Amino acid sequence: MQNISGLSTTGIKAPWFFDGSQPCTMLSTEAFYPDDEDPVVKMRKTQKAKEALKPLCDSCALSAPCLEWAIVNNEYGIWAGTTEADRKRLRRKTA
Ligand code: SF4
Repeated sequence: MQNISGLSTTGIKAPWFFDGSQPCTMLSTEAFYPDDEDPVVKMRKTQKAKEALKPLCDSCALSAPCLEWAIVNNEYGIWAGTTEADRKRLRRKTA
């Protein structure tokens, strides 16, 4: 099983991340990065993954900084129980 690396899409390591205490470090990285060639299938997979991961992220002590990291670094995948589309909406709200 592969753990989340703590690297952003730009390869920058989140300084406070993934010391093994976060619930997501017990899961496969793939769980957080649903993918498919078909955009509709990818969207469905992403929503399913979000629903599955949200309770885990809601219980995580680092949920707030995790979300901030994902927004600031334009991360893809699911971070802090949010999808890229969720974070895009949050970015627009705060702009
Ligand atoms: S909020 Fe979710 S993705 Fe972020 S560190 Fe916690 S468990 Fe991992």
